[in-house]
Amino acid sequence: MNIEQQIKAVVRDVQDFPKAGIVFKDITPILRDPKLCDAIADAYVQRLNGIKIDEVAAIESRGFLFGMMIAHKLAVPFVPIRKKGKLPCKTVQQSYNLEYGEAIIEVHEDGIEAGKNLLIHDDLLATGGTVEAAAKLVEKLGAKVAAISFLVELDFLNGRDKLISHSPHIISLANYQ
Ligand code: AMP
Repeated sequence: MNIEQQIKAVVRDVQDFPKAGIVFKDITPILRDPKLCDAIADAYVQRLNGIKIDEVAAIESRGFLFGMMIAHKLAVPFVPIRKKGKLPCKTVQQSYNLEYGEAIIEVHEDGIEAGKNLLIHDDLLATGGTVEAAAKLVEKLGAKVAAISFLVELDFLNGRDKLISHSPHIISLANYQ
C-alpha cells in the first residue's frame, strides 16, 4: 500500500461529530502505529525535497502531532500556533471566520524569525480558513510561507483556493473527493 492507502485504511469517519451533518475524520488510529507515523513524516520530507524550509509552524492541537515530527526530521525550529489566550508571552493575532462567529489564533511575537521560509502544517484542510489565518500570521511577522502541508484534504470544500496565493506548494497525503 502507498502512504495514501495506508492513511485511509486507518482514518475513521465519525458521523455527526462535533455536530449534526459533519463527518469528522478521526486521525487518532494513526498515532497507535509508530511505523506509519514515521513513514508519514518521511513522506512529507520527500515531498518537500527541493523546497527550502527554515522553520515549521503548526496549528493547535492536531497540527502539532506531525508538525513536530517534520521539524525534527528536517532539523529545523518548531513554532506552535495556538488559540487565543494560551501563549504566555507577547503575541501577534489573527482572526478568522467560523461557520458561526469568529476565532483568533496567535503566535509569540519572537516565535518566528523574519525573512525565514516557513512550512505551515495542520492535520486537515476543510474550508481553508484556519490555515489562511496562520499564513497571514507568518506574513505579519515578515516571514514567507514556503509550503503548506496536511494529512487529509477534503477536496470538495476547495480550501486550497484560499491558500494558493500564499504558497503554490500545498501538500496533502490523503485526498477525499
Ligand atoms: P478549515 O479552517 O475549515 O479548513 O478547518 C480546518 C480545521 O478544522 C482543522 O484544524 C481540522 O482539524 C478541523 N476540521 C474541520 N473539518 C474537519 C473534519 N471533517 N474532520 C476533522 N477535523 C476537521
